[in-house]
Amino acid sequence: MKKMFGNGRFKLIDVLLTTIIVFLAMTAILLVFSKGSSDNQLKSAQSPKSDKDKVLVDKSDSKYDGIKIVTETSNDPLGKYAVQYPQSKDEDFNENVVTYIKQAKKNYLAEIRNVKIEDNKRKSELNISYETHVDKKGNYSFVLMNNQSLQGSKRLSEIESFHLNSKTGEQLGIQTVFKEDPSTLQKMTERVRKTIQQTDKLNEGLISDKMQIRTEPDWRNYENYAITEESMVFYFERGSLKNGKAGPQIVTIPIEEMNDLLKPEFQVATASQAGDDKVNKPSTPKKENTPDGKDKETSSKNEGAKDDQQAGGEDASPQAEKPHEKRIALTFDDGPDPKTTLQILDTLKKYDAKATFFMLGSRVEYYPEAAKAVKSAGHEVGNHSWNHPDLSKMPLAKALEEINRTTAIIQKVTGEKPTVFRPPYGAYTQQLSKQTIPPITLWNVDTLDWKYRDANKLLEEVKKATNDGSTVLMHDIHPSTAEGLDSVMAYLQSQGYKFVTVSELHK
Ligand code: ZN
Repeated sequence: MKKMFGNGRFKLIDVLLTTIIVFLAMTAILLVFSKGSSDNQLKSAQSPKSDKDKVLVDKSDSKYDGIKIVTETSNDPLGKYAVQYPQSKDEDFNENVVTYIKQAKKNYLAEIRNVKIEDNKRKSELNISYETHVDKKGNYSFVLMNNQSLQGSKRLSEIESFHLNSKTGEQLGIQTVFKEDPSTLQKMTERVRKTIQQTDKLNEGLISDKMQIRTEPDWRNYENYAITEESMVFYFERGSLKNGKAGPQIVTIPIEEMNDLLKPEFQVATASQAGDDKVNKPSTPKKENTPDGKDKETSSKNEGAKDDQQAGGEDASPQAEKPHEKRIALTFDDGPDPKTTLQILDTLKKYDAKATFFMLGSRVEYYPEAAKAVKSAGHEVGNHSWNHPDLSKMPLAKALEEINRTTAIIQKVTGEKPTVFRPPYGAYTQQLSKQTIPPITLWNVDTLDWKYRDANKLLEEVKKATNDGSTVLMHDIHPSTAEGLDSVMAYLQSQGYKFVTVSELHK
């Protein structure tokens, strides 16, 4: 006892010290604990919402916050289509868009069922694409262009716009952006008609009767619109679409000149706070979407095109000592995609493989990071047009615009121009192939992954058709393809194949 506590003085100090140490230790534990739990509280307050959102759109994936682009393509020569549309975090908006798309597809497929097969072959096409506009307040306008051709002659072309307040999820119909004042509609009509006169260089008062009717002061006539950073844009159906000549009439008015008619939350600060009665300056519409009726002589290559086969075949390089190495070019079209493309990159890496990705410009715009990832992993980047139309059926200038716009965005995003070009559906004109565009590369093994959407079927198709020197067509937008790729590559590797890019294969 004596030894343990020492004398009374020491005992007191011991007790004091012990008390202080215990107190400090407990304070420290309490601090750490409470900080931890408040962190947890913060996390748990945020996480349930983001978990739920995952079902819809991954926020960080896209250049357009909270918006993803959906691409569906069918290479069926009897009913080919390419459809692209936006989806957001808002279910009502999504449903609205999907309803429109489903109806358009249904109408198209019903129409081509009535067409004789020989007339229909490769001639019918549905293409729905869209432009994304963001106004100064962060609201989205999506302008869908729905183009159909049936038997190569009957054409339909229409525009349908969708609008979204990205913060509230509210869909912004035309009447939600304009003041409720009864004179608003009349004033807007006058400005639109005046702009048409000026842009079309018409004499005073000489708007065509048809345009006069289409711009009647009725809100329904103004439903198809977009608000961009600079302008208010209206789209009107124009003329008969049967001859393929007419497209929508596009009317662009600087946004400041609409300020007085817009609700305060859509008004923008004007550079010069000058009067509202400024004369409307005609501004050129950014992009015309005029279908052309002419059908060009095509050299349409569809699935099963055999002309690429055997390049780099057995007699290619007489290397003495090395045993001949079988080579194969895996190609992935219609991407990039922030999930499936990246998944495919992982699988390729596992097999130390190089492949070629034929990208759509419209998707590179949405997913620049995915496009960059492909490039920096050392794969070849190819051009697959902006929105997947049949280029053999459009005027040369428009086809070139499709290609050049895509080349430009790939170069902007990845730092390099695409080195190869694959026309959608493998269809192009001789005229087009003579232009200065990246060399055209098709395929000779079609896995039909766009049709089956079945991971197991992918290997089956590859086993059936693949030879030394094959170029295999797949699509990196389908989860089933990303999923089935590993077993395809395991099989091909076991067969002694080396995976190379298409340019490498054709060297
Ligand atoms: Zn494609």
